[in-house]
Amino acid sequence: MNREDFPILAQTIYGKYPLVYLDNGATTQKPRCVVEAMSNEYYNVNANVHRGVHFLSQAATALHEESRETVRRFIGAGKTSEIIFTRGTTESINLVASCFTQAFMHKGDEVIISQMEHHSNIVSWQLVQARTGIRLRVIPMTDDGCLCMEEYEKLFNERTRLVSVTHVSNVLGTINPAREIISIAHRHDVPVLVDGAQSAPHFAVDVQELDCDFFAFSGHKTYGPTGIGVLYGKEDWLDRMPPYMGGGDMIKTVSFEKTTFNTLPYKFEAGTPDYVASTGLAAALDYLTAIGMERIEQHERDLTRYAISRMQELEGMHIFGPLGEHIGEHDAVISFEAKPLGASESTPYIHHLDMGTLLDRLGIAVRTGHHCAEPLMRRLGVEGTCRASFGLYNTREDIDRLVDGIRRIQGMF
Ligand code: PMP
Repeated sequence: MNREDFPILAQTIYGKYPLVYLDNGATTQKPRCVVEAMSNEYYNVNANVHRGVHFLSQAATALHEESRETVRRFIGAGKTSEIIFTRGTTESINLVASCFTQAFMHKGDEVIISQMEHHSNIVSWQLVQARTGIRLRVIPMTDDGCLCMEEYEKLFNERTRLVSVTHVSNVLGTINPAREIISIAHRHDVPVLVDGAQSAPHFAVDVQELDCDFFAFSGHKTYGPTGIGVLYGKEDWLDRMPPYMGGGDMIKTVSFEKTTFNTLPYKFEAGTPDYVASTGLAAALDYLTAIGMERIEQHERDLTRYAISRMQELEGMHIFGPLGEHIGEHDAVISFEAKPLGASESTPYIHHLDMGTLLDRLGIAVRTGHHCAEPLMRRLGVEGTCRASFGLYNTREDIDRLVDGIRRIQGMF
């Protein structure tokens, strides 16, 4: 779909193989319109935002604030004051970990996370934990790679203050039942942060319909530029949280005795924002909207099912995450390991690094390693996996190349 919009995909790797890019979970490629929107701003508009009375500054400010409106529309938020620009999902989660804890948590209070979190939704809390003595509770996972919802309910008690979970696992592709997770938490009067790094690029998200209290995603995984991301937060929570960083733009008045803070969202946006990246992000989101998130979802679901069924034809193949009756919960991320051809039960799997390196030699880009989810790796009993993750421009031919590549590598060992 729309491959011609992505010039990088047209290249040949090692002078021999047309690129098959299957590392979209790490970052997506950028359509021409994103790069052009950014270069246009640098060439024709560039000036610092929110500060100048002059023409260019006003134009750059208008673009930046229009981008905020585009983000609001894309995730279905009610107000632009609830859209905070950050550097990415990681910074968005760190912001909540730091500011929410400061406003609403005391020693011994608890945050619920899950077994399948990315390090950014584990370590951010551990840093706060070391300062404040809060506690982390972890939702366990079934062998199918789904969250144990019964166990989740049991984790709530009078000390639970926040639930922070990923919408889609960046390792297993599991689409977690976000709405159910949120409604259970709300029944206990506990707000929920949804890590949308792996959901926002793949299917339509409506934060008001989900009723999540916070939602985080990254620009670079949604076909936009690096260095920008979003934190959505319900106004009521954001209003009661202290600022994250101090500096320009986030203040109303400053004296050596007392400083007052700006209104939302600026209270959380200290310093010069990456206003060119916000333009690029808006161009990316407009691009996705023009294609249609439903079409993208359908295309990627089709690819995922095709990939799983083709990969299952291979002998000695082990695919992680929801399969069989749960395949509908499997998003466009496939972690796998494979044994050499003719292997017995006791033959070890080909090391993920060898598999990834050899696939690369065939022009196929996949991810290897722990995928910033070491606790999940421990739960799966592996040190790492090989991960193929799809984007809107991937095709069945890409999957065929992957499957042929794996088969060829299996034959080398
Ligand atoms: N959460 C999830 C589920 C992710 O997949 C990632 C990126 N791999 C992150 C958080 C962190 O995103 P970023 O590095 O863009 O801040």
